[in-house]
Amino acid sequence: MGDCLFCRIAAGKIPATLAAETDDLVAFHDVKPQAPVHVLVIPRRHIAGLNDLDPGDEGLVGRMFGLARTLAARLGIAERGWRTVFNVGPDAGQTVFHLHLHVMGGRPLGWPPG
Ligand code: AMP
Ligand code: ZN
Repeated sequence: MGDCLFCRIAAGKIPATLAAETDDLVAFHDVKPQAPVHVLVIPRRHIAGLNDLDPGDEGLVGRMFGLARTLAARLGIAERGWRTVFNVGPDAGQTVFHLHLHVMGGRPLGWPPG
């Protein structure tokens, strides 16, 4: 686990407002939401980012999107529209190096993103 923030959240050692949990995923509300709904979906296993997936992780990533879709419906943004984002590396502004899928909605989302 080391000192990875999201590993600690997944292990329940740092509090977060949980949105969902499965065998291999945890979802929680972003502490600094950029939209009325802003949830992060993470694998329990430490993966630094999308560049660091191993062969065979496709199913895991698929389940992340599946949980994102479930949460979008549950949190009431499925119909109006929502967005998923993986920030990867410095140009994309990745700040936490544990794979996380942003799930955002509840307001019109500009395009292209900044
Ligand atoms: P990124 O810039 O893609 O690496 O996104 C990291 C996200 O994690 C940001 O949206 C932060 O607001 C969010 N974040 C950082 N610390 C926490 C925390 N303790 N609980 C929930 N979200 C967090
Ligand atoms: Zn981690």
